[in-house]
Amino acid sequence: MNQDQSDQPAHPSTQPQSVRQVVLPSGRMIEVVHFHDTATDSRVLSDCPACGSDLVQPLAWSQAADGRWNLLLECPNCRRSEAGTFARTQVEHLEDHLDEGLTAMITDLQRMAQANLIADIERFTRALQADQILPEDF
Ligand SMILES: [Zn+2]
Repeated sequence: MNQDQSDQPAHPSTQPQSVRQVVLPSGRMIEVVHFHDTATDSRVLSDCPACGSDLVQPLAWSQAADGRWNLLLECPNCRRSEAGTFARTQVEHLEDHLDEGLTAMITDLQRMAQANLIADIERFTRALQADQILPEDF
């Protein structure tokens, strides 16, 4: 008989209290490890405990009891997922962090659009000066 080792489950030293699979709107399936750790109430949710990235984002959320929130979080850097119930102050801090990120992205987008527009105007001006724009071009 063959001895098959592929069915041996790997058990990490820390046991999660629940593991479930979630299908995201994109169709991708992720495995969510749910730890029930009340000591996490002071943790900054935007910071990934696995890789240190500050880009952790909520994928799903719902209101829980006592003003707390159930969140499904994912780090876009290392793809670590986590589901948990977090304090309102943590969620507000995460929301503020996301708002700051959105503002920074919009500002960068506006700068890029302006830089592209300036480059287009400069190209058009050079073409006009070189008599390379003719009425037939319009
Ligand atoms: Zn990470």
